[in-house]
Amino acid sequence: MIQDTIAAISTALGEGGIAVIRVSGPAAVDSVSNILKSRTPLADAPSHTVTYGHIAAPGSGEIIEEVLVTVMKGPRSFTAEDVVEIGAHGGLVAVRKVLELVLEQPGVRVAEPGEFTKRAFLNGRIDLAQAEAVIDLIRSKSDRSYSVALKQAEGTLSRKIKALRHTLIELLAHIEVNIDYPEHDVTEMTSSYIKDSCGSAMEEIRRLLKTAAEGKILREGITTAIVGRPNVGKSSLLNALVQESKAIVTDIPGTTRDVIEEYITLSGIPLRLLDTAGIRETTDVVERIGVERSRSAAADADLLLLVLNHNEALHDDERELLAKLTGRQVVVIVNKSDLPARLKLDEVAAALPDSRIVMMSVLEEEGLEALEGAIRELFFEGQLESADLTYVSNVRHISLLNKASQALSEAVAATEDGIPIDMVQLDVRSAWELLGEIIGDTAGDSLIDQIFSQFCLGK
Ligand code: GDP
Repeated sequence: MIQDTIAAISTALGEGGIAVIRVSGPAAVDSVSNILKSRTPLADAPSHTVTYGHIAAPGSGEIIEEVLVTVMKGPRSFTAEDVVEIGAHGGLVAVRKVLELVLEQPGVRVAEPGEFTKRAFLNGRIDLAQAEAVIDLIRSKSDRSYSVALKQAEGTLSRKIKALRHTLIELLAHIEVNIDYPEHDVTEMTSSYIKDSCGSAMEEIRRLLKTAAEGKILREGITTAIVGRPNVGKSSLLNALVQESKAIVTDIPGTTRDVIEEYITLSGIPLRLLDTAGIRETTDVVERIGVERSRSAAADADLLLLVLNHNEALHDDERELLAKLTGRQVVVIVNKSDLPARLKLDEVAAALPDSRIVMMSVLEEEGLEALEGAIRELFFEGQLESADLTYVSNVRHISLLNKASQALSEAVAATEDGIPIDMVQLDVRSAWELLGEIIGDTAGDSLIDQIFSQFCLGK
């Protein structure tokens, strides 16, 4: 049973128009009421209403901030507990002072990162898959990844998992009866029942896993490296892509070998561009180093955009690169198509069979659509799936679904081999538990702590 009340600044730290301090727990209303001067006492404010007032130090009466206070009584709140949100509009100092005053009230302590969402989970308002989707919502960098996360936060995946577990629990009950009353005809029926139930559950898991590759891409972006010799137009292409992109472009300094990433989206396909710093530098760097850098970025990428110059014959370095790219997802971009042809396309095609070749002139802004089309064909089956589809996008979920499916296939195999039914029961039970871990029903404390520790403060 949760007894203490937690508080934190829930908006991003830094200067902003407004900031919100969130308080949750049994003492939420009293603690804010103690430091609020308002016409109607906060304790009398009906749930889901806003009260105007001033935050004042209880002793000195010094006014610290003009605020709008929202009261949401549990269980109709984010955490399912009493929640009070103080909307302040001053700078960081005022917001900190308000939080300090709240924390001085009896029974209130500062919230840990993710603790509000964790309480929503512990109080049964959301399940673990939904809580994880909240992290994804905060972090999503494209409209697509946002809508994937939103569906999961609404519980579409959780409902499918619950339905699967329901099938399995019915099967377990049936097996239980059979173990208690082992009559022959029941045994016969049970074995076909096991095969049917496990079969349909495996089919549903297969359907969910089929969305995983695309779901993961939509969530994390396609890790992409632009490679090629100096002067072919890599940084011009990068600039054109960034300009074309309607998504937020972020520079993330990498922790290893100072790789800089940028996120862009091309007609809804999120790309995570690797080593963009390297690309922007190469013009001045010795050729050899440029190729070395290309190689290391290439090793980490899901998608390689190999840029060649339409106006120059294939170079030995490029032949070497092409040979190394066999079996990878590559789009060959033949840039500078506005200039006379000196590159032999059939030589490129022969060096890397089955590769997609796109003619482009970054200078004249031609070929970007063809590039988008080529990427879409490589990673998505035809059209991007409709937004209605439930995607499995989280590696933890993917791995649990795979394990559950494996356990079910073992149950079926054991039934077919005539292995005693209590052994089969173990496999079914393990599948049921693995699926439960996705939504948090059978998840251990350390897993739960680890998941919520990924959240930011105040969430
Ligand atoms: P990088 O070294 O591969 O990054 O190449 P840059 O992007 O720096 O481009 C090298 C030179 O090629 C620059 O002078 C660009 O303006 C030029 N360039 C890039 N794309 C095109 C193109 O499509 N057509 C023509 N004619 N020149 C281009």
